[in-house]
Amino acid sequence: MRVWIFDTTLRDGEQCPGATMTHHEKMALAMQLEKLRVDVIEAGFPVASEDDFKAVKEIADSSTYSTIAGLARATDRDVDRAWEAIRGAKKPRIHTFMSSSDVHLKYQFKKTRSEALEMARAAVKRASDCCDDVEFSPMDATRSDPAFLYSMISAAIEEGATVINIPDTVGYSTPGEFGALIRNIRKRVEAIDSVVISTHCHNDLGLAVANSLAGVLEGARQVECTINGIGERAGNASLEEIVMALKTRSTVYGAHTGVNTREIFNTSKMVSEFTGFTVQPNKAIVGRNAFAHESGIHQHGVLANKKTYEIMDPEMIGKSSELVIGKHSGRHAIADTLASIGFKLSETQLGDATAMVKSLADKKKQIGRDDLIAIANSVLGRLPDEKRRLRLVSIKVRTGSAGGASADVRLSLDSKETAAHGEGVGPVDAVANAVKKAIGQRVTLKEYNLKAITGGTNALANVVITVQDRKGRLYTCEALNEDVIMASANALVDSIDKSLRGSG
Ligand SMILES: [Zn+2]
Repeated sequence: MRVWIFDTTLRDGEQCPGATMTHHEKMALAMQLEKLRVDVIEAGFPVASEDDFKAVKEIADSSTYSTIAGLARATDRDVDRAWEAIRGAKKPRIHTFMSSSDVHLKYQFKKTRSEALEMARAAVKRASDCCDDVEFSPMDATRSDPAFLYSMISAAIEEGATVINIPDTVGYSTPGEFGALIRNIRKRVEAIDSVVISTHCHNDLGLAVANSLAGVLEGARQVECTINGIGERAGNASLEEIVMALKTRSTVYGAHTGVNTREIFNTSKMVSEFTGFTVQPNKAIVGRNAFAHESGIHQHGVLANKKTYEIMDPEMIGKSSELVIGKHSGRHAIADTLASIGFKLSETQLGDATAMVKSLADKKKQIGRDDLIAIANSVLGRLPDEKRRLRLVSIKVRTGSAGGASADVRLSLDSKETAAHGEGVGPVDAVANAVKKAIGQRVTLKEYNLKAITGGTNALANVVITVQDRKGRLYTCEALNEDVIMASANALVDSIDKSLRGSG
């Protein structure tokens, strides 16, 4: 039995605070998701803004494998806009939704049940008049009166819905309850066998994956999820956990997906790089420690036979720790190695990546797979200079044991150069003060995180910075460099640039 994987990293994932991706990053991620062979990519919410529309349209127009879904509330304008954005896709899908719970209808929508039912009906009808593939979600399904939920689902199917998605919008359900809900829908809704049942579970109680899998056991044939489980609040069901649970425990679930699991690790790295949301070390499947055996007893066992303590082969998700490149590797070797771990770069991108590899190789003997993935993702996510509003031209920092530090920065803002001097308690603070002086107080620094990609004082430093603009919107950027100060300056300038360009 085949389960469709519906990835909503670009919609549910991207809309959570601080995870905003640039247009360029969204395109790179959509291409990677096709490589991962997800069945459906929910590319965004076209009516939300001009930028969202453009991103969904460009993803749809260039898609070759996955179905491209656009989200729409149950209004004519939303549905029309979604269709306009996705109609160029090889396989387009409109995803429309209306709440079915009394608490939503009364306080948020101020609609009666029969008004909500009519809105759902009209939206699905309008969507199926233009598109063959229409998904309908009764929002907050798990807190809805079951009888009303069944009638809303029936109405959607009557009007032409092809997929019925059951969202646990607030992450309230438990596996037993969620499984029973899917079972009852299959029992009580008449034409349900003519459509695909889908799940969309949030992780507020840490049950998103368990609930989704309970749905699969009861006959759900599509699972909505995100890479690294990012999404509103505590996030969504995580794609890598769903896919690997179905694969590793196939006898329990009797189901498989079409996902190319060897692309999981690269995709996870890309999403964490683009959003700045670091993956916790003990995260299942993609965490740094997910396959690390620390204790002597376990190490001994694994050396004797992997099966003693490993239920999955790390290679299956595209992860292996062997060193892949050395100090003297040339551009071709770098291109070949990147290709072997799944990265295809343009000539310019390859040039940038080679420069970063060489510069790192000068300071560090061997470059590991993690270094290479980080470099490739940072190059793929990098916006060409001409598309940026703010860019770092040069930087000079003085610091010493006497206390305090100072920095001189030169920036290019809307193609005009500007320079400033800043003082601070340390070098990073001095750089931040100089940048602020140069461009005026447009943003505030909300968060600063520093980590080393691999061990040693010469490892790549990875800095994640979140800034907030005057409207309260958050923008996060990550930068890599062998030098901590440079990584900090780049992450700061990149996130300010992101805020100046809005989400696009
Ligand atoms: Zn959601």
